[in-house]
Amino acid sequence: MDATVAVSAARDVGPQTVALELESPDEFDAEPGQFVKVSATIDGEGYARFYTLSSPGVDDTFEVTVGVDPEEAGPFSQFLLDLAPGDDLEISGPFGESYYEGESRVVVLAGGPGIGPAVGIAEAAVADGNDAAIVYRTDAPAHGDRLDALRASGASVTVVDESGDIDDAVAAALSGDADEQVFVYGFAGFVDDAVSALDAAGVDLDDAKIENFG
Ligand SMILES: Cc1cc2nc3c(=O)[nH]c(=O)nc-3n(C[C@H](O)[C@H](O)[C@H](O)COP(=O)(O)OP(=O)(O)OC[C@H]3O[C@@H](n4cnc5c(N)ncnc54)[C@H](O)[C@@H]3O)c2cc1C
Repeated sequence: MDATVAVSAARDVGPQTVALELESPDEFDAEPGQFVKVSATIDGEGYARFYTLSSPGVDDTFEVTVGVDPEEAGPFSQFLLDLAPGDDLEISGPFGESYYEGESRVVVLAGGPGIGPAVGIAEAAVADGNDAAIVYRTDAPAHGDRLDALRASGASVTVVDESGDIDDAVAAALSGDADEQVFVYGFAGFVDDAVSALDAAGVDLDDAKIENFG
């Protein structure tokens, strides 16, 4: 679906990280972990980038979380950081096959802005009465309030420094339950490290749902 949607809220949720709440178009349906394409023209140049849902649902509104690395990111990220309620965006989607499907236990490995889908999936799982664990690698933690609420609901949340090794945290988060589903969201460097950690822990990588941000 292609649509023009209004920004209904823009909240700072961490260093260089904003959660954009967007009005859901009529008939829009998407699962936590799917992503949309966001398009805009900046200084006469057209851009299109992908952003993953960070809300557990899409009733009335949905949310995406944008994390900006000042040393890596281009003008589109800055454009998103500067949005305000009432601004319009062009979106299309949803896209992606790596999404929550009601599994009885979810283990989400998140690097940087991958924390967006991690909180969305974990909140959906907890709301369904399922188990959730998050391993989050960052030096600039975001969504602290939602992570605290998830911990209070019984979810396991482990935050690892960028310089730290995630292998131990990943091994501790895995229960080995038959219906346990592993998800990985983040930029390529994190995905590589997460895949190594899962491999070391004996997870069949064909079963993991992995979204590489580029
Ligand atoms: C399927 C998919 C889902 C995505 N979901 C999200 C999301 O939920 N939230 C989100 O913030 N981004 C997400 N992205 C990344 C997003 O689409 C943009 O690439 C990002 O915001 C940078 O856009 P840019 O135009 O500012 O920089 P670009 O010029 O596109 O960035 C160039 C390169 O810099 C590197 N880079 C940019 N930003 C970072 C960063 N923060 N950390 C590490 N390396 C970085 C990457 O290698 C990137 O390819 C997703 C990408 C894909 C493919």
